[in-house]
Amino acid sequence: MSQITIALTKGRILKETLPLLAAVGVEPLDDLFTSRQLIFPTSRDDVRLLVLRGVDVPTYVQFGAADIGVSGRDMLLEDPADGFYEPLDLGIARCRLMTAGIKGAARPAGRIKVATKYVNIARDYYAQRGQQVDLIKLYGAMELAPIMALADEIVDIVDTGNTLRANGLEAREQITEISSRLIVNKASLKTKHAAVQALIDGIAAALPNATEG
Ligand code: AMP
Repeated sequence: MSQITIALTKGRILKETLPLLAAVGVEPLDDLFTSRQLIFPTSRDDVRLLVLRGVDVPTYVQFGAADIGVSGRDMLLEDPADGFYEPLDLGIARCRLMTAGIKGAARPAGRIKVATKYVNIARDYYAQRGQQVDLIKLYGAMELAPIMALADEIVDIVDTGNTLRANGLEAREQITEISSRLIVNKASLKTKHAAVQALIDGIAAALPNATEG
C-alpha cells in the first residue's frame, strides 16, 4: 500500500477543504486548527496530511515531498512551477484579485507606486495595460499602504470588500478570479497511479459543479 501525503493550506481554505477530504474517507485524527503537530495521520492508514502556509504548498508538491496539494490559484499564478498537474478547480475559497486605492482618489498621472504581495501578477497586469509602476513588496496589511502614502494603489484579494471599506479604500479593477485548485505531483501520478487517481476522482465527484480536465 503506497502512502499518500496531501499538503493543505492553512486558514480559510482549510475549512472548506475538509468536507472534500471527508468525501473520500479522509478525516484527520487530530484537530488541524489547534494542534501543533505538522504531520497529521487520518482515518485512512494510507493518507496523511500536512498543514502549511499557502505559499509553501506548491513547493512541497513540486518536489514530491507531498503527492497532492490544495493551493489557492493566487499562489499558482504568482509563482508558476513545473512538476505538478492542476487537475481540479475545487471551487472553494472563491475571491477576486483586484486593484484598490483610496476611495474617490484619482490614480495619479504617470508612474504609480503599487504595494502588493503579488509582485509578479501585478507586474504583468500593469505591463499589459501600459501603466508604468514601481512595485513595493509587502507581506500583509496591504490596505495600510495607500493610507500611509507608501503606495498609490494595492493589488490584493477581495472577498466581501469589507476590509477595503473599513479602511476607506475601494476596489478598482478586477485582475482575475481566484479559487483553490487540487495540484498533483507528476511523478506521484505515475508511481502511485491507482491511489492518487482514486483520490482525484473521489474529490471531483464530491464537487457541486465538477470541472475535471
Ligand atoms: P474581505 O474583507 O472579505 O474582502 O476579505 C479580506 C481579506 O481576507 C483579504 O484582504 C484577503 O487577505 C483575505 N481573503 C479573503 N478571501 C480569501 C481567500 N479566498 N483566500 C485567501 N485570502 C482571502
